[in-house]
Amino acid sequence: MGVPDCIAIDGPAASGKSTIANKLAEKIGYLYFDTGIMYRAVTWMALRHEIPFEDETGVSTLAKNVPIDVKPPSVEDGRDYDIFVEGEDITWKIRLPEVDHNVSVVSVYPGVRAALTAQQRRIGLQGQVVMVGRDIGTVVLPEAELKIYLDASPEERAHRRHQERLERGEKANFEEILENVRRRDKIDSTREVAPLKAAEDAVIINTDNLTIEDVLAEVEKLIDQFKRGK
Ligand code: C5P
Repeated sequence: MGVPDCIAIDGPAASGKSTIANKLAEKIGYLYFDTGIMYRAVTWMALRHEIPFEDETGVSTLAKNVPIDVKPPSVEDGRDYDIFVEGEDITWKIRLPEVDHNVSVVSVYPGVRAALTAQQRRIGLQGQVVMVGRDIGTVVLPEAELKIYLDASPEERAHRRHQERLERGEKANFEEILENVRRRDKIDSTREVAPLKAAEDAVIINTDNLTIEDVLAEVEKLIDQFKRGK
């Protein structure tokens, strides 16, 4: 057996999914695709078009009709890709606190999920992809050959987000970030459609006391086991 064609990495906010998936994809020459950016882009569009987050139909229509362009990075400012919507570079805007705060609400809407899941599945089925999200192993690509669920305590995850913000030179309040992490966990894991949970056949890794290198080594071990047909 070779390297698994589709690798699904799920887990809660700031569990290290994106960092691990990005490094892994680079190592094995796969496409890295973070599905969270699509939910964030829809949240940004709702802000931009002044559509209230409670307006389910309005927000779902945006998700269905406005294309989200994800391309290789054109600027060297720490970004992993360019994200454009309606001609606007929103790569960093989707990381703003207003987006962080509202993205889980937008992600509950079945119309939003249907529109984005269809696009994600199309990309995933092309193969050679490491796809990251909340429902990749359960809903988007249930056929993925390797499924990983990364977890960590809310405090550890909030600490990581706090550090990231400070490193980007942004203002950051640890308590606020922790509250937002807890709030998002709750909304993401209790929603009716595609809630955050590990697939039954996922390998769960708790990253609380692990460095990025440790987690990457664990994941590579799993890939080796897959190659040997175990
Ligand atoms: O991973 P990230 O924190 O960027 O995801 C932002 C939000 O998008 C999550 O809190 C969740 O509400 C939503 N999301 C989702 N399904 C995915 C990816 C992200 O519902 N596959």
